[in-house]
Amino acid sequence: AKADGRGVHRFYSDDMLAGAKSRKQLEDDLRIAVTEGAFHLCYQPVVSTKSTRIVGYEALIRWNHPTRGPVSPADFIPIAEECGLIEAIGTWVLRTACNAAARWPADVRVAVNVSPIQFANPALPALVTSALAQSGLPANRLELEITEGVFLDESASSDQMFKALKGIGVRLALDDFGTGYSSLGYLRTAPFDKIKIDQSFVKGAAEPGNRNAAIIKAIVMLADTLGMETTAEGVELQDEIALVRDLGCSHIQGYVYGRPVLNEVVMEQLSTAAG
Ligand code: C2E
Ligand code: CA
Ligand code: CA
Ligand code: CA
Repeated sequence: AKADGRGVHRFYSDDMLAGAKSRKQLEDDLRIAVTEGAFHLCYQPVVSTKSTRIVGYEALIRWNHPTRGPVSPADFIPIAEECGLIEAIGTWVLRTACNAAARWPADVRVAVNVSPIQFANPALPALVTSALAQSGLPANRLELEITEGVFLDESASSDQMFKALKGIGVRLALDDFGTGYSSLGYLRTAPFDKIKIDQSFVKGAAEPGNRNAAIIKAIVMLADTLGMETTAEGVELQDEIALVRDLGCSHIQGYVYGRPVLNEVVMEQLSTAAG
């Protein structure tokens, strides 16, 4: 509600109206982008702390808006989730990432972000199977990243989804661990292969007296006990590499090892790494 003059609260400021308008515009543009295929993927290396070699890449979507320039997925993915476009986008991401990874060396995995909305769709396992079959990528080289968001609505259907996906043989990673608002109860049964420690816990962790190191340590202990690997996300500094390695993280992802790059660059990185 609204304006009524007399010093009563106006709920919609001009800024908010402008915001709503540009959001609607963005939604319309997103719809066009989906039909025109205006997205591309970049891939960010994931490095093993033990071998210090690249063992995989995370696929990250990019959208170059015709007039606004690059729009962050942190801004447009939530809109796509709300207006029903995430299924089409997510399908494209999965197929494109599998096609790319099928041409990488056999020991390099690809990780793909899966929205909670996709995860709630019973058709997801068939889509994954189809993307693997079409690309020729072996199931164990695909890792699906899901967030705690999938546990917010506590339906038994997530159990079935986990079973179906593990049945296909893909790996499952819990993304942005510790930033959702769900309890830890789901760890009793959810068959994750890996926990990704959110970058908010890595930031500042190497500074003296910073409590993030204690949190990372606790997460690693929990994951170890549950037989899960751990990736420290958002590692930017050499000191942070040393810290998360000493705290026992099995993998590192962050600008310190490489920003997200086009598949052409990935192919170059992998051929120089091999030769
Ligand atoms: P995320 O899944 O947590 O992805 C990691 C984000 O951290 C990426 O941002 C990556 O570029 C950024 N990052 C990596 N290393 C560093 C670092 O050292 N420092 C800093 N400051 N940032 C780092 P990006 O690509 O902008 O993606 C943002 C979010 O958008 C992703 O967070 C994910 O939630 C979502 N997203 C991206 N691509 C997709 C997609 O294909 N599907 C879905 N459903 N969501 C996606
Ligand atoms: Ca992710
Ligand atoms: Ca993450
Ligand atoms: Ca995130």
